[in-house]
Amino acid sequence: MFDSLIVGCGMAGAVVARELAERANKKVLVLEMRNHIAGNAFDLLDKDGIFIHQYGPHIFHTNHQRVFDYLTRFTAWRDYQHEVVAAIYGSLMPVPFNLNSLYLAYDGDKAARVEQKLIAAFGMGTKIPILELRRQTDPELEELADYIYRNIFLYYTQKQWGLAPEEIDPSVTERVPVFISYDNRYFQDTHQGIPAEGYTALFRNMLDHPNIELRLDTDARQVLRLESGQVFFEGRPFQGTIVYSGSIDELYDCRFGRLPYRTLDFVFETPALTWFQPKGTVNYTVDQDFTRITEFKHLTGQEKEGITTIVKEYPRSYTGTESETPYYPIENPENRALYNRYKSLTEEIPQLYLLGRLAEYQYYNMDVIAKKALELADTLVSHAQNGSQE
Ligand code: FAD
Ligand code: UDP
Repeated sequence: MFDSLIVGCGMAGAVVARELAERANKKVLVLEMRNHIAGNAFDLLDKDGIFIHQYGPHIFHTNHQRVFDYLTRFTAWRDYQHEVVAAIYGSLMPVPFNLNSLYLAYDGDKAARVEQKLIAAFGMGTKIPILELRRQTDPELEELADYIYRNIFLYYTQKQWGLAPEEIDPSVTERVPVFISYDNRYFQDTHQGIPAEGYTALFRNMLDHPNIELRLDTDARQVLRLESGQVFFEGRPFQGTIVYSGSIDELYDCRFGRLPYRTLDFVFETPALTWFQPKGTVNYTVDQDFTRITEFKHLTGQEKEGITTIVKEYPRSYTGTESETPYYPIENPENRALYNRYKSLTEEIPQLYLLGRLAEYQYYNMDVIAKKALELADTLVSHAQNGSQE
């Protein structure tokens, strides 16, 4: 009855579903264990009528023209350039740490001198990972690196990962490099914004195709069985393509042990204020148990007097209980080796493709997932076309 099964209705699953349905004319069944579409990008009106992102702030940003053009088929965009400040002992400093931050951290003369040193060492407009800046030998650059490390990275990273910055994969802190620039934006990508009607509406449009059937509240593990290189769907052998975007360890009942993740508790509050804070996100880098507060009206552009909704993010270890969601893979050689053990089990099932943040155990942004989903779809569509010519 179905040609393809897609597990998970986040960015990975929804893009591949649409592509297979549209370009390869496949009958596609999407299985989603949550009671909604859009994965972690899900957004909705809260009980007070404020538009929120249920799983934390999602800002779309990309340099991939194909991805932007593709998603633009399904949504218009609100132009939103995200800015983040760190709350440091009562003052608010732009993050990533940039030249504006430098003039807030130091008095004018010293800031001007250090600015010249940064420009001489790295050049205007460059981005320097904090761990690289810490290797500088000039005493004033060393001192600056130490300031940024202590005030921006150390405590936030300890909260987020339970580890110090030098104990996590360098790619994580490289996401927020020191920026030799007066540009206060969090991202510099060519395209940035928020879907004008929200992410859920974008996904709804993407899934709106006669060849796509969606089953919510359906854990794939209840209907799919992998056995000696064969796939069974609802008890019967299934020969079609399966794109799986859930956690790979769960596909195999965690037989080698659980892949470690960080999870978050989101605590929403709706104060009787028109605005709670001056920017979309304020990072708490030297105090508090939560990492950041996001105020959604900045992101969505919603206008509402006298009321606003914010979310605080409290990170902790993922233990695998049902109420928890694995959000962040923890990249290190040991975890990658465990991941690879699971992945090797899938090799006996060539019709099974792993795609997404969970299935690939990679700290991806939405646009990278969309790009990879389009590329996987290219391959599958071309298989289908070659197959039908034979
Ligand atoms: P998901 O969105 O997680 O979708 C996977 C889906 O599969 C889920 O809906 C899950 O319920 C379902 N599923 C899992 N197992 C099963 C199963 N057994 N059966 C059925 N269904 C199953 N990216 C950005 O580009 N910009 C941002 O600002 C940004 N902010 C983020 C903030 C937070 C707090 C987090 C956690 C992530 C953020 N991301 C952001 C990343 C973004 O959420 C991911 O890139 C994106 O969700 C990845 O899409 P995905 O389809 O791989 O995964
Ligand atoms: N980070 C930090 N302080 C900040 C912002 C980021 O220490 O003010 C570090 C922290 O380790 C975080 C990583 O940089 O996990 C990546 O930050 P990003 O904002 O990209 O995280 P995400 O939005 O994906 O949670």
